[in-house]
Amino acid sequence: METVAAATKKSKKAKQVPFDYSKYIRKGKLPHIWCAGCGHGIVLKSLLRAIDAIGRSNDDFALVSGIGCSSRTPGYVNFNTLHTLHGRALAFATGLKMAKPNLKVIVTTGDGDALAIGGNHFIHTCRRNIDMVIMVYNNYIYGMTSGQFSPTTSQGMIATTSRYGNIEPPFDVCKMAEAAGATFVARATAYHYAELEKTLYEAIMHKGTAVIDILDSCPTYYGRFNKYKTVSEMMEKIEKDGTISVKQAAGLPPEKLEGKLLRGILYKKERTEYTAEYAKLVEKAGGKKG
Ligand code: SF4
Ligand code: MG
Repeated sequence: METVAAATKKSKKAKQVPFDYSKYIRKGKLPHIWCAGCGHGIVLKSLLRAIDAIGRSNDDFALVSGIGCSSRTPGYVNFNTLHTLHGRALAFATGLKMAKPNLKVIVTTGDGDALAIGGNHFIHTCRRNIDMVIMVYNNYIYGMTSGQFSPTTSQGMIATTSRYGNIEPPFDVCKMAEAAGATFVARATAYHYAELEKTLYEAIMHKGTAVIDILDSCPTYYGRFNKYKTVSEMMEKIEKDGTISVKQAAGLPPEKLEGKLLRGILYKKERTEYTAEYAKLVEKAGGKKG
């Protein structure tokens, strides 16, 4: 496998030339179900470009999802794919990784799927530090089931289940991932798509649990309920004005950072990876090596 620096350079270069997505798309599965203006297509584009920069065979990757709009991602792409049960993507992904430790497993999940129904799986996947990338498409609402508030909906925001404003405080996905034991934690947005591509590349190259909180947009429910007039207005207010890169934030006084979420790699650490540790255990017990 090439070095991070060499492939990052290649990835930057790739942005300047047209990119052929055809080898990654299952054309027979199109058209996709996503609404006009949904951020999921941008996230997918960045993911495919990051995978391409890594330069491995499509067969080396497995995309796993639960249920929800973001969970439709694996159906459209030409990798090993699993579309599973609501909130259970990480349980299936764990089983897959244990059976096939050489696969690079990437989980595409939503804020509801990952943090409400699948919240317990999320915590324990991070704790084990099993080698996989968890992409949380965070659009602060349940999209597919028609706009209920989720664990990342901000207080005061409108959803089908909070018609007078949500009273629950939201999770900070990154803080929770780090506290639970993930060894790569980052935040990105669909608006900053080039940064997202780079962050995804670094996450895929990382050996251990990599969580990316990807701020994304659901204009159909969140946007409409909360009176964003256009998709671009929504993306600019939440993803552009509501975040600041780690680099830009360095040296700024706390009052300048108020109300802004940090973007970029927020935490990275080397720690024993779960499948490697399990293989050692099997050997110790006299079984076959993984
Ligand atoms: Fe995207 Fe929302 Fe439409 Fe689902 S309902 S496809 S999240 S815009
Ligand atoms: Mg959602």
